[in-house]
Amino acid sequence: MRSKYRPQRTCVVCREKREKRQLTRLVMVNGRLQVDPSGKLNGRGAYLCEKPACWKEAGRATLSRALRYELHEDDCALLRQMTPS
Ligand SMILES: [Zn+2]
Repeated sequence: MRSKYRPQRTCVVCREKREKRQLTRLVMVNGRLQVDPSGKLNGRGAYLCEKPACWKEAGRATLSRALRYELHEDDCALLRQMTPS
């Protein structure tokens, strides 16, 4: 492994690969959606890039599929709250 290696992740909406730190990790913890800025929480995660369009499109269907979990209204409210502007 090269020393300059930086982990890359894919935005679940636009499928663009970016460095992990440029993406926001969403993770399921105890059955609730949480934003994980540290990227260290255990659980099934999904990544979103910084584009507001991706956050707006990352609705119930996309994230429910990525996280294998049916999002609640509260989770959708959290997403809206976290959407970059
Ligand atoms: Zn994206």
